[in-house]
Amino acid sequence: MSHQSFHPPLRTLMGPGPSDVNPRVLEAMSRPTIGHLDPMFVALMDDMKVLLRYAFQTDYDLAMPVSAPGSAGMETCFVNLVEPGDTVLVCQNGVFGGRMKENVERCGATAVMVEDEWGKPVDPNKVEEALKANPDIRLVAFVHAETSTGAISDAKTLAEIAHRHDCLIIADCVTSLGGSPLKVSEWGLDAVYSGTQKCLSCTPGLSPVTFSPAAIERIQNRKSKVQSWFMDLNLVLGYWGGGAKRAYHHTAPINALYGLHESLVILEEEGIENACQRHQHNHSALRAGIEAMGLSFVVDEACRLPQLNSVTIPDGVDEAAVRSRLLNEYNLEIGAGLGPLAGKIWRIGLMGFASNQTNVLLCLGALDAVLTDMKAPIKSGVAVEAAMKVFAS
Ligand SMILES: *Cc1c(COP(=O)(O)O)cnc(C)c1O
Repeated sequence: MSHQSFHPPLRTLMGPGPSDVNPRVLEAMSRPTIGHLDPMFVALMDDMKVLLRYAFQTDYDLAMPVSAPGSAGMETCFVNLVEPGDTVLVCQNGVFGGRMKENVERCGATAVMVEDEWGKPVDPNKVEEALKANPDIRLVAFVHAETSTGAISDAKTLAEIAHRHDCLIIADCVTSLGGSPLKVSEWGLDAVYSGTQKCLSCTPGLSPVTFSPAAIERIQNRKSKVQSWFMDLNLVLGYWGGGAKRAYHHTAPINALYGLHESLVILEEEGIENACQRHQHNHSALRAGIEAMGLSFVVDEACRLPQLNSVTIPDGVDEAAVRSRLLNEYNLEIGAGLGPLAGKIWRIGLMGFASNQTNVLLCLGALDAVLTDMKAPIKSGVAVEAAMKVFAS
């Protein structure tokens, strides 16, 4: 036997997630493991709740990380708020709305779908119409920042419509948290889940969530037990809920939580508004370079995410070959298209710690070099300069 330790290469992660992890987060994660009921750890959990309320811009009591990735945060929202026989309105304008439908159906409920073209935001008028046509619906779900396309939807308006029709609203904020303005309690979002590996630039594997008092009340008044023991918030809250009588539910991923705590401290240091501005500024520079090359964006500027850039692939280019050359020659990861956009777009992430000038210029320079070498129909040698002009302005 001669197995060896795994030493990953140092990549630049500019795909749809995970994003580059801040070295401060990795350092925090390597600190000594202590017991999950140790008073020092309990104090860390309490501090984490305060930091999460800031990140989510929420005054809801319940803000905590689910001990599993973003997909488990999604499932936590659905299994707690959906009961067998319910009808739920699900908005779909990309991959993740499809997963919401799966969740609804696996809870024994029916999903009424409001569908929009991939690359477009959720259309609030269609949501209004669907709720008028289905007065028995009590829950609406949508994706705030669709990572599969790069489109952002109007969370505030969607929440207003849902509440006017006596519905609670679930929002997927996995990619928006820390990169785009998100005001959970002001907008009245009732159940929100996110992830650690997108704009928070922590390692993957945790899902911050926050629930409104109305959502908690609905969970406490369920007719049936939550189908998942692990995700049943009535039980999880015995551990995360606070108070002196904190009870064992599961062993928290101690060191992963050190990492999340550090990434939230970093977000607080920078300030959310500044973080959003930084994402916007780096997007503008990337856009200048991409457009100078003669490539274009899939999503209209008015609803385009700065942290996830869907870029069209020039004619006749083997897009997978480009991505593998970027990875092998430049240690640079960008994302492929999904679903109807597979083979048609690249997804360039500028998320969290990865959203910086160095990465914008690396990506444009590397893309320019590879496409030029492949004799792709682009304008060569101009992208970096176009981006530099934005940085200098
Ligand atoms: C990444 C992502 C998820 C899933 O998160 P995981 O941590 O991969 O489970 C869910 N929704 C959106 C919008 C995402 O971008």
